Amino acid sequence: MTLSHGTAPPEIGTRGPEGIRCAWDEDVCDRTAEHVLAFRGADTLVLCPRHDAAKLAWLLDLHMPDCDGGLREHIATYGPIAAPIAVPRDEPSDPEA
Ligand SMILES: [Zn+2]
Ligand SMILES: [Zn+2]
Repeated sequence: MTLSHGTAPPEIGTRGPEGIRCAWDEDVCDRTAEHVLAFRGADTLVLCPRHDAAKLAWLLDLHMPDCDGGLREHIATYGPIAAPIAVPRDEPSDPEA
């Protein structure tokens, strides 16, 4: 998987909260998706809790060490499907600014 760090906001489908299959793309997963995970410039994923954690672990352990961007520059949306949390790209009081 590659990240483009694009600027287009992700769109979250309006499918109902029930019966969405986990969108884990590296193996077949029959679990029900419960979490949303959207990387900037990539598709919004709906994942079961286990694969949501696995995807985050991939980002933190394998991608971030070789990337200059912070978490906020990678993740646009996360959280439960019923109440996803949008991550603002920039914080007003960023100490690094
Ligand atoms: Zn899964
Ligand atoms: Zn990156």
